[in-house]
Amino acid sequence: MSASPTSHGPALHPHVEAVLVNEAQIRRRIAELGHELRAVYGDEELTLISIINGAIVFTADLLRELANPIRLDCIRISSYRDAVESRGVPQVVSKFTLDIANRHVLVIDDILDTGKTLEFVTRMIREHRPASLRTCVLLDKKERRAVDFEADFVGFSIPDQFVIGYGLDFAERYRNLRYIGTLKPKFQNA
Ligand code: 5GP
Ligand code: MG
Ligand code: MG
Repeated sequence: MSASPTSHGPALHPHVEAVLVNEAQIRRRIAELGHELRAVYGDEELTLISIINGAIVFTADLLRELANPIRLDCIRISSYRDAVESRGVPQVVSKFTLDIANRHVLVIDDILDTGKTLEFVTRMIREHRPASLRTCVLLDKKERRAVDFEADFVGFSIPDQFVIGYGLDFAERYRNLRYIGTLKPKFQNA
């Protein structure tokens, strides 16, 4: 991995153990994702549904790679963790408000992990009868999948490690890092 996490701005955050994807790699891959999306959607209008808060930074950069008409909405999901196991049960905290019937919808998330969030969200969106429905994630932890779900567009496949930065948090911190990294163990208890 390149020594420099960012091209400019603050250097490596002192809580970060390792940089998995640096700023330049993110920027290059998002430009490529823009090409991939343009190849699929052409000049069609596209409705983006961003799963906040984690996908905010990725969404902001990705949508500026697109030149077709874009509508933007957000959905906030919480993963209720039951007492027995850390089984995440997704719940809607705040739903999108745009009419998506007969629209081309692209759901954007920061990371695909067990797959439960995107499986849940896409099932809900499908009930609104979009013209098409696809998903785009910056990161994919394939080893962690608990349900049968794959994203249509993937930025990077990464190993099974808890990551922060570029929108992803630990206890609401580190979203503003310009790169994807791992936390030093001594900062991993909230
Ligand atoms: P899934 O439902 O696929 O298990 O999880 C998706 C959500 O869990 C993501 O949108 C993200 O909010 C959170 N998540 C999963 N893995 C990580 C990770 O490594 N780091 C952070 N910060 N969040 C994660
Ligand atoms: Mg999330
Ligand atoms: Mg989070």
